[in-house]
Amino acid sequence: MRIKALKKSCETRQLDAYLITDLKNIYYFTGFLDIAGAALRLLVPRDGSATLFVPPLSYEAARATAGNCLVEAVPKGVKPVTHLCRELTARHLDVVGFDDLPLAQYLQLTADGTSSSIRHWPRLVADLRRVKDAQEVELMKQAAALTDAGARAGMEWVRAGVREYEVAAEIEYAMRRRGSEGAAFETVVASGPRSAHPHGVASDRVIMRGDAVVLDLGAVYRGYRSDITRTVFVGEPSPQQAAVLQVVMEAHDDAFHAMRGGVEARVVDERARRIFAAKGLDQYFIHGLGHGVGLDIHEAPTLSPDSVDVLAAGNVVTDEPGLYLPGFGVRIEDTVLIHAESGEKLTRTEYVTG
Ligand code: ZN
Ligand code: ZN
Repeated sequence: MRIKALKKSCETRQLDAYLITDLKNIYYFTGFLDIAGAALRLLVPRDGSATLFVPPLSYEAARATAGNCLVEAVPKGVKPVTHLCRELTARHLDVVGFDDLPLAQYLQLTADGTSSSIRHWPRLVADLRRVKDAQEVELMKQAAALTDAGARAGMEWVRAGVREYEVAAEIEYAMRRRGSEGAAFETVVASGPRSAHPHGVASDRVIMRGDAVVLDLGAVYRGYRSDITRTVFVGEPSPQQAAVLQVVMEAHDDAFHAMRGGVEARVVDERARRIFAAKGLDQYFIHGLGHGVGLDIHEAPTLSPDSVDVLAAGNVVTDEPGLYLPGFGVRIEDTVLIHAESGEKLTRTEYVTG
């Protein structure tokens, strides 16, 4: 089905073929995930079968796993890009779109390698990937459940005297031992003044009483990612901390209730921004409201003031407003599946612990 959809996109854009080198895109179409990061090329002609070209070392694994395509080994001693040039010419593929190519290979392909005209059109695949099918939604739910386990472990471990990296280790252990393939991105544990920066990966700082601690983490299940952020306070939060948490939760909630198919992503972002503006705090909301999630942790669509994306049923996006004040920050994030009439939170960890 996915290959068929890609062929249709090629037809609309008058491409003779589409060339895929991004390993996650190859996994999306064939189910073959090469963890060794081998140079794979999936060539999808508008007419005829897709062919996956693999180095000899990956051949057996690809033969056993890759679906919806033929598998061919690149002959030993032949550079993958040289082989590709020959294939494009031999198949008379004149106009070929592609998702991603290293610069050196692009130059070789365009300089003298092939008579084909090569066009960088990554959106062809990104537009397919942003609408998740039933099978993908199932995997993303599993990834979200593992992510919840990590978030709960993290919230449990946050206390005075513990170092940030210890909390990160417990988060990752909790996800991993339940079946996560790893961390979806570098786990964030940002305590005290470090919580005022949106991207504080875990350091050796010792967590202290009175700290705000931002935990931002995600699990991976069969390649699919999930994303959650919770902010916890060590001991009773100060009145200011409690008030900031309150308004971030309000913004998070308001944006969530605006999420549904057909809504402009920037309008959803605006909902959160307006809640902050009403309290005179919008200057401290220094990033977009959210991003698409799937095989990549950041993918289409984007929720921000200058986004031109429109949400559609099947999108999976984050809802992550945050305020970064001098001294401390608060962010709350959930991964949300978009339906025609509403959003559905895939991550479900409770917001506050005592
Ligand atoms: Zn996150
Ligand atoms: Zn995120």
